[in-house]
Amino acid sequence: MNYVCAHDDEFDPDNPLGKPDVPEHVQDAIRTLLEWAGDDPTREGLLDTPKRVGRAWLEYCEGYKEDPAIHLTRQFEEVGGYDEIVLLKDIPFQSHCEHHMAPITGKAAIAYLPNKKVVGISKLARVLHGFAHRLQIQERLTAEVAQCIWDNLEPHGVAVVIEAQHGCMTGRGVKTHGVEMVTSRILGCFMDDHRSRKEVMSLMGY
Ligand SMILES: [Zn+2]
Repeated sequence: MNYVCAHDDEFDPDNPLGKPDVPEHVQDAIRTLLEWAGDDPTREGLLDTPKRVGRAWLEYCEGYKEDPAIHLTRQFEEVGGYDEIVLLKDIPFQSHCEHHMAPITGKAAIAYLPNKKVVGISKLARVLHGFAHRLQIQERLTAEVAQCIWDNLEPHGVAVVIEAQHGCMTGRGVKTHGVEMVTSRILGCFMDDHRSRKEVMSLMGY
């Protein structure tokens, strides 16, 4: 008889890596999709696919488990008089479109002009991933990242530019490869002041 342990720290020989369980109804849904797509879910190569797909989707959508603003709570006010633009660029990310659940892959540039509060630079990437690891459209992803920084750091300005390719465009529909969609959200002084906007855009390489 197999003993299923209730504690995380106990070793379960049936699940040595401690992978999350995928409930039967979720696996059934994936079998239904496999059949609908024209394959046979009972053939050997597909036997474990429903479990793998279930776990993969837990990872793709792990952003639902967190409020990305949590990454901006540890702030530093002592910045040695630095009052210029802070920019993190070429941040790679992956998301999935809410219309086809197809991958969106791209890179983001995130900048802000601090008003006393700054955060560790990696936190900007964490905010991006928190929103990207949900079902998204690129426009909303861009806006959510910018708004989160705006609300939590209260900076003078925020600029977010995202360039991405959409699996639903490359692999289906018009099947057009190599096309990038570019979206931007500009707030505060980067919006209002022409010179600030020019400066942040040229730092981003636009
Ligand atoms: Zn799509």
